[in-house]
Amino acid sequence: MTTLGKLYETGVNALKKAGYDDAVYSVRILLEELLGASAAVLYAHPERTVTSDDEKRVNLAVERIADGEPLGYVLGHSEFMGLSFSVDPSVLIPRPETENLVEWILEEQKGKKACFLDIGTGSGAIAISLLTFDPAMKGVACDISEQALKTAAQNAQDLKVSDRLIFCQSDLFTNVPETRFDFIVSNPPYISHKDMEELPPPVQREPETALYGGPDGLDIYRRIIREAKEHLVPGGAIYFEIGYDQGHSVPALLQEQGFTDIEVRKDYAGLDRMVRAHAPFIY
Ligand code: GLN
Repeated sequence: MTTLGKLYETGVNALKKAGYDDAVYSVRILLEELLGASAAVLYAHPERTVTSDDEKRVNLAVERIADGEPLGYVLGHSEFMGLSFSVDPSVLIPRPETENLVEWILEEQKGKKACFLDIGTGSGAIAISLLTFDPAMKGVACDISEQALKTAAQNAQDLKVSDRLIFCQSDLFTNVPETRFDFIVSNPPYISHKDMEELPPPVQREPETALYGGPDGLDIYRRIIREAKEHLVPGGAIYFEIGYDQGHSVPALLQEQGFTDIEVRKDYAGLDRMVRAHAPFIY
């Protein structure tokens, strides 16, 4: 039998030894989630005993993380916009910087009864958050991966927005309903060939189809932007998450296709992270 304090220390040391940056944070979360022991309990009662079953469960989770598995996959869920999303290896774990994109969309679209298309929805984080924070919105969420769509549909059900969200399995626009959307949103795979080689180990466990954007990272933007106008109402908006070094290239692609009002915004870290543009009214 061990104590909470010792279990914490062993876990943190194991993760640090594995070269893991967020050792303290991750072990705290594991103790809280697996044993119900919050940070407050840990500090007030490090002497509290832990059963050998609980010890095994925590150590196993620590081993998986040390082995490079993302914390979200080990826990089976991840937080985004204050909501809990189920995640599994078929979907990208929602990133905090993507919250900035959702906030921007809400700022511009909330209350307009907008109907949107989310391309490459993954866990559904973007679409489901939009619907949660704007009860007047409706949307279609597509993904090429059947497994990702199952996860997203479960999330939509758990977060009680399924009545306003339609899912469709589609390679970008190929299979989306024939309608014109008020706006399109996408966090497509945008990592370049060169940057793929330097992904941190936990990111390497995430689906390549959600990360790799072709040699220069722009392949999917090119495909979406080429066809987007045909799926938008005149003047409709398009919102993209972009890579830190795509603040010029993605706007240039949008401009080539006649999009206007192109604006790039940065994330919390001060890096270019998202772009919004409007389709022309007449074309
Ligand atoms: N932001 C993600 C990462 O850092 C990449 C997401 C994407 O390609 N859309 O790994």
